[in-house]
Amino acid sequence: MKINNNYDNLVPNYLFAEVAKRTNEFISKNPEKKVIKLGIGDVTLPLAPVVVEAMKQGAEELGSKETFKGYPDYEGYEFLRQAISDYYKSFGVTVAADEIFVSDGAKSDCGNIGDIFGTDNTVLVTDPVYPVYVDSNIMAGREIVYADSTEKNGFAAMPPKDTEADIIYLCSPNNPTGSAYTYNELEAWIEYALENDAIILYDAAYEAFITEEVPRSIFAVEGARKCAIEFCSLSKTAGFTGTRCGYTVIPKELERDGHNLNKLWYRRQATKFNGVSWPVQRGAAAVFSEEGQKQIKENIAYYQENARIISSAMDELGIYYTGGKNSPYIWLKCPDGMDSWEFFDYLLENANVVGTPGEGFGSNGAGYFRLTSFGDRGNTIEAVERIKKLLSKK
Ligand SMILES: *Cc1c(COP(=O)(O)O)cnc(C)c1O
Repeated sequence: MKINNNYDNLVPNYLFAEVAKRTNEFISKNPEKKVIKLGIGDVTLPLAPVVVEAMKQGAEELGSKETFKGYPDYEGYEFLRQAISDYYKSFGVTVAADEIFVSDGAKSDCGNIGDIFGTDNTVLVTDPVYPVYVDSNIMAGREIVYADSTEKNGFAAMPPKDTEADIIYLCSPNNPTGSAYTYNELEAWIEYALENDAIILYDAAYEAFITEEVPRSIFAVEGARKCAIEFCSLSKTAGFTGTRCGYTVIPKELERDGHNLNKLWYRRQATKFNGVSWPVQRGAAAVFSEEGQKQIKENIAYYQENARIISSAMDELGIYYTGGKNSPYIWLKCPDGMDSWEFFDYLLENANVVGTPGEGFGSNGAGYFRLTSFGDRGNTIEAVERIKKLLSKK
């Protein structure tokens, strides 16, 4: 027998393992020092009270014969899909409930969506990139091409000239660069996709962090229904990283190669996925209630204030960065021409602060660094004070 030898083409990603190794070494050599981690890409605030209450009720319902639920619908319960559809309506985007597929998260959907596309398609990703888009397509044996995110375009790559692609992954607001596409920029991507007969796979996992006048959904932009699929998640929006719930939107009229993609994805999910649990779907629906929105916005505002604290320190230090405004991430240029790992060590040793070296996200990340606002307020303030003291001396 043979394994899928595309796995041999995966480049080992040592990023987070190496970050943990260097951090732990430092801590064991300096047990008296308080190390603050601004590298985490995971939320830290608890679930909103209305969500917890709905999940408890969901568990109770499973415990009684009259309200017990077995297998859920593959695409998610109607009440949750309708709540998501209404949520889109709240920011002016029309997406019907039967265009929404509830899932266990955006990461799985971003990877699994490849099941409905042939393996001889060329995949375009922006560099730096969320590694899932690259690795899941290497596993499938697809060719990958890159569009450069650099200082020139504010770390928001635009369609490359003379490069063709069939599948295009975009993430806005972006992880790791924090940049968010404007209407005009997304129009340019849609035009490029339509010219190439391509599909845009749009990851909107951070849409809830948007504060400026940029699209919350690619479906806010003309033409997207002819070329785009959108992924979103309650992970960063409502603290569901451990609870697991996301959703994917596929317009009913979206077709390629004589096939309807909404129907193909339904077929795929019905074959390989058995849905999201009842208590989690009850909790997810509570996120979209009026009270739920109020409560999750308090948590998002907390992270946004952390992001503002970090960004304003970068402003004071005169350090170039993107993000922080529509995103929990601050993507900064390492000072004095240091490379990403040099800066990592410098910051760890002299400020006892941990961040994420940019080169772990792609070659354009070399010389850049990611800080996150998902930490505790007090720690964020302390870390920023230490960074300011260290770097203003230089
Ligand atoms: C965190 C994150 C997600 C969310 O993934 P889940 O599987 O829903 O937790 C999706 N895309 C990006 C870019 C992310 O950073």
